[in-house]
Amino acid sequence: MTYSFLRLAAEALRGQTGWTPAWRDPEPKAEYDALVVGGGGHGLATAYYLAREHGITNVAVLEKGWIGSGNAGRNTTIIRSNYLLPGNEAFYEHSMKLWEGLEQDLNYNAMVSQRGVLNLVNSDAARDAAARRGNAMRLHGVDAELLDADGVRAMVPYLDFDNARFPIKGGLLQRRGGTARHDAVVWGFARAADRRGVDIVQNCEVTGIRVSNGRVMGVETTRGFIGAGKVGLAVAGNSSRLAGMAGMRLPIESHVLQAFVSEAIKPLIDCVITFGAGHFYISQSDKGGLVFGGDIDGYNSYAQRGGLPLVEDVMEAFMALLPLAGRLRVLRSWGGIMDMSMDGSPIIDRSPIEGLYLNTGWCYGGFKATPASGWCFAWTMAKDEAHPLNAAMRLDRFASGALIDEKGAGPYPNKH
Ligand SMILES: Cc1cc2nc3c(=O)[nH]c(=O)nc-3n(C[C@H](O)[C@H](O)[C@H](O)COP(=O)(O)OP(=O)(O)OC[C@H]3O[C@@H](n4cnc5c(N)ncnc54)[C@H](O)[C@@H]3O)c2cc1C
Repeated sequence: MTYSFLRLAAEALRGQTGWTPAWRDPEPKAEYDALVVGGGGHGLATAYYLAREHGITNVAVLEKGWIGSGNAGRNTTIIRSNYLLPGNEAFYEHSMKLWEGLEQDLNYNAMVSQRGVLNLVNSDAARDAAARRGNAMRLHGVDAELLDADGVRAMVPYLDFDNARFPIKGGLLQRRGGTARHDAVVWGFARAADRRGVDIVQNCEVTGIRVSNGRVMGVETTRGFIGAGKVGLAVAGNSSRLAGMAGMRLPIESHVLQAFVSEAIKPLIDCVITFGAGHFYISQSDKGGLVFGGDIDGYNSYAQRGGLPLVEDVMEAFMALLPLAGRLRVLRSWGGIMDMSMDGSPIIDRSPIEGLYLNTGWCYGGFKATPASGWCFAWTMAKDEAHPLNAAMRLDRFASGALIDEKGAGPYPNKH
């Protein structure tokens, strides 16, 4: 079924009786050409692009819970391509270009909103770093504008500019950045993959990976063994667990990241604002709630919930940036499990086991990468080699030293 204005009008006239499920609920087959483990945005996008770009449609996505129950449905929805290093910049800009055509491509309203992402700078050194990043972006053909304090004030006059600890001295603006509705992205990719023949199998946990003579044979699941010559892991915070099933150790730590949403208020913030001095980011949802977050909790965990010290830390940053926060009530908070890599950049690569592929290391930033991650991972799985866009996102860079240390923070997950 194609969604359109005419379809909406027709359904309105016949009492909404003609809608069909957006995707099937199939029993898993005994064997597929390719399996993707993880029904988050990345896994579903991978399956979609395997079918659309490479004609590989005998594919299943295996999800232990319901699709979008992981980080895909828990993030703060920010999309941007304001990266510094060559290994990252072209990849994230490819993602931004895919976002720009995604809703037409998927025939689904993912509420992509290019409302602008403004990174504030609070010191002269931070301004120099922002100028360098903006110049690197422009050299890659990406839009970037360096604003002085007056330029920021004209956009967001209600911030605390003259805070003695964190005076706002300017900002780096990417106007094409913004937000997308995270669960709609999951549903859109699921529906589009299903339409091309992909089986989306929910409530199907992978419990083992069968390997014979250095080659993957398939996976053990709570619904029996499923064979495949190609298996892609896109399980975000559970990457180390899944890799462990195949006898591998990854340079990944799992940490909790929390997010918060306030009660709905009248329109206040019409862009995304990030606050480097306190590591804080905020936007306003279409329902009016302020959606915001900060740092990871800072201890290893596989639990989708965080602790109170980080709540205090995030609220302090919020108050420092926007004192009116003190009058707001927080409605909800939640946590997700982050796959923190040791240089802060992702891994999209083959593994040492033939037919087993890795998609992990997304840290804070995997939502914006969803389309390009699926696109590149599908390419890597289909052709058994990296696309130039993910060529630097190799697993062995942690052995060779060819790191993509975007933040210059080294192997410290709490600093990425
Ligand atoms: C609070 C928070 C805020 C964030 N904010 C942003 C943001 O603003 N912008 C941004 O770009 N990124 C953000 N991120 C990061 C982003 O959400 C993730 O990097 C990205 O969603 C990870 O890819 P994914 O969607 O495929 O992961 P997930 O949605 O986590 O998908 C992995 C799936 O694998 C499944 N799985 C795990 N183990 C198994 C198994 N054994 N068998 C079968 N299935 C399994 C899980 O259930 C899960 O559904 C945020 C994350 C969090 C938690």
